[in-house]
Amino acid sequence: MKHLLSVRDLGADGISEIHELTDSFVEVSARAIPKVPALRGKTVAWLFYEDSTRTRTSFDTAARRLSADTVNFSVGSSSVNKGESLRDTALTIEAMGVDAIVVRHSSAGVPWQLTRWVDASVVNAGDGWHEHPTQALLDTYTLRRHFGSLEGRHIAIIGDIKHSRVAGSGVFAFAALGARVTLVAPPTLLPASVEGWPVEVAHDLDAVLPTVDVAYTLRMQLERQRGALLPSLREFTDRYGLTARRADSMLHHAMVMHPGPMNRGVELAAEVADGPRSLVLDQVRNGVPVRMAVLYLLLGSGRPDERATTEEEGAVHA
Ligand code: ASP
Repeated sequence: MKHLLSVRDLGADGISEIHELTDSFVEVSARAIPKVPALRGKTVAWLFYEDSTRTRTSFDTAARRLSADTVNFSVGSSSVNKGESLRDTALTIEAMGVDAIVVRHSSAGVPWQLTRWVDASVVNAGDGWHEHPTQALLDTYTLRRHFGSLEGRHIAIIGDIKHSRVAGSGVFAFAALGARVTLVAPPTLLPASVEGWPVEVAHDLDAVLPTVDVAYTLRMQLERQRGALLPSLREFTDRYGLTARRADSMLHHAMVMHPGPMNRGVELAAEVADGPRSLVLDQVRNGVPVRMAVLYLLLGSGRPDERATTEEEGAVHA
C-alpha cells in the first residue's frame, strides 16, 4: 500500500489486514516502553490546514512509538499564511526528504491532489466533508474488539451526516465488514444524494433506536453549516439527540459511539457519553495503535513488534 486516501480502496480484506497489525501494536502500546524501531530513519510530516486535537496527537504518538522523525507544518506558523500554494508547500516538504505526509484540509480531494505532486506516501486525515479513513479504521477496530464481529450488526449513524467525513468513511467500512447501516437525520442534514451508499435512511430516531446494536452519534458541525438547516439546536436535540431517556430504549447490549469532539447535551447527553454504553474513550485509545498500523503498512520494514534497543528505550525516557 502506497497511500491511505479512502476506506473504499481497502475493502474487507484491507481493513482486516490493518486490524491484525493493530493487534500487535496494542501489545506494543501495553509494554513498559511502548516503542519499536520499525520506522527508524523515516520522516513523517503533518500538514494540517484545519484544527484537530485527537487525530493530530494520535498520529504524532503513533509515529513516535514507531521511532519515526516528525515535522510539523501547522498552518498557523508556516508560509501557508503568506499565500504559499498547496503545491508549493507540498513540494517544499518533500524536498526536505519526507517519507509520508499526513494531511487534513477543508477541501474534499486534496489528499488525491497531493499524490500527483509528491513521491511521498499520503495519508488522508480528513478532507472536507468527504472522508476520514483512519477514523473508520479505529471505529471498526473498536467494534470488532467489543462485539467480535460486525457481521449482521445494525449500526445507526445519527445527526449531521451531510457535513460529516466520519460518516463518509464509516458507512463504507461498516458495510464492508457486514453491518447493516441506517442513517438517521432530518432531511436537511442528509447529503444531497446517498446513491451508491450501502445504507437505509430513516427520520424517526425513536423508531430506529430499539433495533440497533450501535448508535453512532455525530457532532453537529455548526462551523460548516451555511444558512438555516435547523429550526433550532433545541429542536434538533428534542428529535435526534441521544438523551438518557432514549438510551434507555436501546437493547441491553447496544453501545454508543462518537468521534469527538462532542457537543455534550446537543447530539449526545453527558450521562450517556460517560455511561456504561459508551465506547467513546475506547475509540480514542484505539486510535494510536490503528495509526501505528497504517504508518507501518505504508513505510515499515522488519518485524512490527521488534523490541527497541536499550539506547532507544533511553530516548523514550529522555
Ligand atoms: N474529529 C472528526 C473530524 O475531524 C469529527 C468532527 O470533527 O466532528 O471529522
